[in-house]
Amino acid sequence: MHELIFLGTGCPNDSRQRGEASIFFDGLLMDCGDGCADKLINLNLIDNIQAILITHLHSDHIKDIAKLLSFIALNSTELKTINLFSPPGLSKILDKYTNMSELLSYLSEKISIELHEGLIENKCIGDKIISAYEMNHHVEDYGYLIEFEGAKLFYTGDTRKCTIQIKADYVIHDSMATESEKGIVDDTGHSTAGDAALFAKEVDAKVLFLTHINDDWISNNDALINEAKMHFKGKIYIAEDLARFSLKSKSELHSSLRNGKEIIKKDKI
Ligand SMILES: [Zn+2]
Ligand SMILES: [Zn+2]
Repeated sequence: MHELIFLGTGCPNDSRQRGEASIFFDGLLMDCGDGCADKLINLNLIDNIQAILITHLHSDHIKDIAKLLSFIALNSTELKTINLFSPPGLSKILDKYTNMSELLSYLSEKISIELHEGLIENKCIGDKIISAYEMNHHVEDYGYLIEFEGAKLFYTGDTRKCTIQIKADYVIHDSMATESEKGIVDDTGHSTAGDAALFAKEVDAKVLFLTHINDDWISNNDALINEAKMHFKGKIYIAEDLARFSLKSKSELHSSLRNGKEIIKKDKI
């Protein structure tokens, strides 16, 4: 089984009912918003991180990165290599705002960072194959396609509805609000639940996770789900902080679908 854990699932806000963007999947950390480093320590997952995939450079996706890298270094008993994927500009931001160079030279015997800025194609990390695709936000934003045991998981980061030529079994999509707030959703470079569902349909997904949800919709998950259901017939989940899902390999997923069995398991940490 492959564990998907949502660490932060909200929009940046003052009420902090949901944490900022961050998702852990089988050794890969996707985005690194405020609060994710402490959650990874509490869940005892720091040692498991092999690579960090940053979708874009807005602060709600990168705020915890320096803290996290220092936690990784302090936790390792020998030199650990971390692959860090990002659109161009991350190294400058790290240096400017976090004194990263100073920190990393101090920790250089414990951590080696392989920073890859720009789009990537079929990059192997452990048993995963990762490619990045350009999405549609205010700044350069990459969606990441992760292939594992034949199955494919796609995470959009922040994006307006866009079309890319991929297939994916599992989709994690920006879903700030419903169509009733289409104006503000578009203006801020995000998607509605309907946009997310259309994307999931286009890529032939079986499971859709809605994330990056505005706090206004916390008590109204049904509205998001109902809107998504109008376009997408697969399983739909609202991502919540610390919700955990077991993802299946391609063959397990298809055999479950053929036999009418449950295709995904959810629990809360
Ligand atoms: Zn953003
Ligand atoms: Zn964001």
